[in-house]
Amino acid sequence: MQTLSFEQGLKLVVEALRSLEEQSELRGNAELLDRIERLKEPLPARSSVANPERESSPSIMEPIERTEPEKRQRKASNAAGDFEKLRLTVAACTKCPHLAASRHTVVFGVGNPHADMMFVGEAPGADEDMQGEPFVGRAGELLTRIIQTMGFKRSDVFIANVLKCRPNMPAGVSGNRPPTSEEMETCLPYLRKQIELIEPKIMVALGAVAMRGLFGKTEPMRQMRGRWHTFGSIPVMPTYHPSYLLRNQAISEKRLVWEDMLQVLERLGLPISEKQQNYFVVR
Ligand code: URA
Repeated sequence: MQTLSFEQGLKLVVEALRSLEEQSELRGNAELLDRIERLKEPLPARSSVANPERESSPSIMEPIERTEPEKRQRKASNAAGDFEKLRLTVAACTKCPHLAASRHTVVFGVGNPHADMMFVGEAPGADEDMQGEPFVGRAGELLTRIIQTMGFKRSDVFIANVLKCRPNMPAGVSGNRPPTSEEMETCLPYLRKQIELIEPKIMVALGAVAMRGLFGKTEPMRQMRGRWHTFGSIPVMPTYHPSYLLRNQAISEKRLVWEDMLQVLERLGLPISEKQQNYFVVR
């Protein structure tokens, strides 16, 4: 029988575990694999002992000592990998066969996966479905202006919808329809996972449909907006959907949305300029 060295044996174990790790029931054991692989690291110099290799080898049950920057880096790279996995899962989703059949693209979301602020809309429209990005039509242009007026770029925040596919329309009918409650319920786990990975400090829910998707709330927007809600532990500010502002051009409605955004800036602890304070104030 062939005798293996310690390193050769270890290599075989790691390879076998790595290939098993591809199977779902062993996922999450990356930490254990890490520990096993660290057994290969050079051992600290030791005074003469009978079997220095065995005596100084760390046990796989011992916690790995990591510095804070190492921990942060590891968390970020795990989260980036998980985010990419989620993107691929969502892109291949067929849970709503009628939407999978009619869509051009799945609109996952766009922006900074480590954003402090996340905007949540209802569902992609025709423009978003064609371009694969949320809020790129007229309502999207207005949302972009709101974000910029708050002092951010679109790429600083994360923008997503409750529903990732465009709600289908009857053949030959243009325009968009709101998502059904069933469609939103089916898709909500994807948004939940996005929120879990991004860990935003604050979310903004755009419009009554987003509020229905997130909280099941059906109250009129004028009652919900301007007041903080909580999704898990994350504060959520509901405000009017940009499409509403396009339909209703009254300055007073723009000011209400702006007041909601001022509350968001304040809660994020950001400075508010006098100019920002006074937008849309009618004198
Ligand atoms: N309206 C939404 O709610 N989401 C979009 O992505 C575009 C318009």
